[in-house]
Amino acid sequence: MQVLTDRFGRAHDYIRISVTDRCNLRCVYCMPEEGLKFLPHEKVLSKDEIVDFMKIMAQFGIKKVRITGGEPLLRTDIVDIVSGIANIPEIEDVAITTNAMYLNKKAEALKEAGLSRINVSLDSLQADRFKEITRGGRLQKVIDGIQKAEEVGLFPIKLNVVLIKGQNDDEIIDFLKFTKDKDINIRFIEYMPIGHAGNSWKKKYLSLNTIFEACNEAGFEYEPVDTVKGNGPSENYRIKGAKGTFGLIHPVSSHFCASCNRLRLTADGYIKACLYWDEELNIRPYIQNNPEELMKIVQQSIDNKPESHEMALKLQDEDTSHKPTWRRMSQIGG
Ligand code: SAM
Ligand code: SF4
Repeated sequence: MQVLTDRFGRAHDYIRISVTDRCNLRCVYCMPEEGLKFLPHEKVLSKDEIVDFMKIMAQFGIKKVRITGGEPLLRTDIVDIVSGIANIPEIEDVAITTNAMYLNKKAEALKEAGLSRINVSLDSLQADRFKEITRGGRLQKVIDGIQKAEEVGLFPIKLNVVLIKGQNDDEIIDFLKFTKDKDINIRFIEYMPIGHAGNSWKKKYLSLNTIFEACNEAGFEYEPVDTVKGNGPSENYRIKGAKGTFGLIHPVSSHFCASCNRLRLTADGYIKACLYWDEELNIRPYIQNNPEELMKIVQQSIDNKPESHEMALKLQDEDTSHKPTWRRMSQIGG
């Protein structure tokens, strides 16, 4: 089997597929309050195009798929998308990242369709604050969704927490306490400057060293663990005696580009080999009639993949050889 390898020797076996750019929330770090100009429906890949695309990619060593968005559970055919991908023999793992507003309703059908597991975005454990950060989300719906996911067995359940200075950094200990009795992985993620003009995001950015500082202050002892399934770029730890674990994803303060094994497909059919830079190639015209050409384009995208995203704070002010993407996070999928 041909493996998708780039000029730095990185083999690609993982793809993140955005199935929509629409969302029912407007998280402060992801979308502007007024929303964005969403793609018209005909510009969004259909279920058949997504599944056919994945059948081709599976022949080239892609084994792991994450479905994302926008909010993926807004798609009325999300269960069929999951089952179409999960039924491809070479695909070993199909996960979803969701804001969980519709998870309670859809978890069971998704599990039956072959979904392996889920990540839920949850940036505050306080209802008012959660509503503020997401500009309208209801915390109880997320809690109900997580409970349902546990009931139907979508394990391991991971919670994504974007650390935002002055907005949820006083909840680090509460999140860590959440792991004490629950077999859950809380992943703290650094706020990334994706689609943010200028350096305004810096005011809200905190390095994940903050997590260790909070642990030390609270007298929490922690130890590294390497048993979290599908841990990707997350470094994982356990508070001593806790059932669950916590992970740190620090793309800004210390990037993990050297081990990057991922590609991204946008909802309108563009392949992106790097989250941060603006290089992207349209594969939609070839999905259903020219798989050879499609794979040439995918390989071209991989051949042009930069060595690193250089999303480091100091480089925000410097000229680099590439331009940052024009897309917001909701238009890529995270
Ligand atoms: N709507 C789904 C959700 O929120 O889980 C999936 C799409 S969302 C774009 C995917 C992930 O990207 C979420 O966990 C979200 O917290 C994260 N994200 C969005 N904007 C971000 C930013 N500027 N920095 C870091 N993470 C971000
Ligand atoms: Fe929507 Fe997810 Fe972005 Fe929040 S992070 S606005 S839920 S796409």
